[in-house]
Amino acid sequence: MTTALIIGGGIAGASAAYFLANRGVEVTVVDAGRHAASHVPSALINPVRGQSGGVDARALAGMALTWTLVQDLQNAGFAVPHGQGGVLRPLPDDRTRERFGRNLPPDLERRWLAPEESPVPLSPGWAHALWLPQGGWLDGAAFTRALLAASGAMVVREQAAGWTAHTVTLQASPTSPARSLTAHAVLHCGGSLGATLARETGTHRMGTLLTLDRAATHVPVSFGAYLAPSAVGGVLGATFEAPAPTWTEPGLPLASLGWLLGKGEALTDLGGVNVTGRWTGSRLSGLRVGRESDGVWRLSGLGSKGFLLGPLLARDLATQVAAAQETAPSP
Ligand SMILES: Cc1cc2nc3c(=O)[nH]c(=O)nc-3n(C[C@H](O)[C@H](O)[C@H](O)COP(=O)(O)OP(=O)(O)OC[C@H]3O[C@@H](n4cnc5c(N)ncnc54)[C@H](O)[C@@H]3O)c2cc1C
Repeated sequence: MTTALIIGGGIAGASAAYFLANRGVEVTVVDAGRHAASHVPSALINPVRGQSGGVDARALAGMALTWTLVQDLQNAGFAVPHGQGGVLRPLPDDRTRERFGRNLPPDLERRWLAPEESPVPLSPGWAHALWLPQGGWLDGAAFTRALLAASGAMVVREQAAGWTAHTVTLQASPTSPARSLTAHAVLHCGGSLGATLARETGTHRMGTLLTLDRAATHVPVSFGAYLAPSAVGGVLGATFEAPAPTWTEPGLPLASLGWLLGKGEALTDLGGVNVTGRWTGSRLSGLRVGRESDGVWRLSGLGSKGFLLGPLLARDLATQVAAAQETAPSP
């Protein structure tokens, strides 16, 4: 039987485990149980990105696959809190609307609304709203956990200290004995933390969500910041930190709290909504997918599209890994 070792059990590693297992590969996931961006309490499935309105070439296929997986997992008995009822993008002016309009692919369902037609009462000042009925939100941690559990992968809760095309070395501390796991294929899906543990530099961006005792809006609303329902209430999220070359321990400068609330108020009236806590995570940009020169397979650098594209890219990668093993010698 073909075997695979996956470093990292975030959405990249969990999706890879799921699709490899579907192909009959016996998978072991090594996960440090430290920071995972994938544990974001509420992630948007939003194909129209940022303030430029860019749409990734594979966004529609990625969105469809993510929703199919959520359904399959639910049918298999896993709880994945989510809402598939659309995403609203308020836009500040005509120029932004034109820019967004230029980027939208013809097969993306959308409706242009005047602010007063919006399904969510918007704060004053917005000129237009773009309604994307295929979008929505999901609980990142629940989705990731469900994929991993459904894969049947064995999970080793340790940090990988080294790896080659066929081995992963585990060593709890520099003085403890090292031991090696061996497999036909090794995949590195370590995200922001993993790149830093591998002593690589890149573009790491921290972002913070305030958790709310109830959802400020019944569907996600996003421009500059986002409001979304979550499993236990709602979230208000935004990215304000400058990109950093490595992962750093997530934190929230107190000054940012007022800034974040102001961003939320600019979207809609937050009256009656209470902040219950915060969640801060770091994501890595600069997509790397495929087999690298050291023979290790890689899926990382999903940026802010981890749940939109991660499962789709992991499915492609699993196909490549399985195909390569058919012709490869045993380790
Ligand atoms: C604030 C915020 C909001 C976001 N909002 C959205 C959104 O709305 N929509 C969306 O699609 N995406 C969103 N994202 C992006 C998304 O969360 C990430 O793209 C995605 O989670 C990255 O997944 P990953 O599996 O690559 O990495 P991670 O989730 O970071 O997982 C990596 C895992 O690998 C483990 N690991 C690393 N190195 C090692 C090692 N050497 N040994 C063992 N284990 C290791 C870590 O402990 C971790 O568990 C958001 C991210 C943040 C931070």
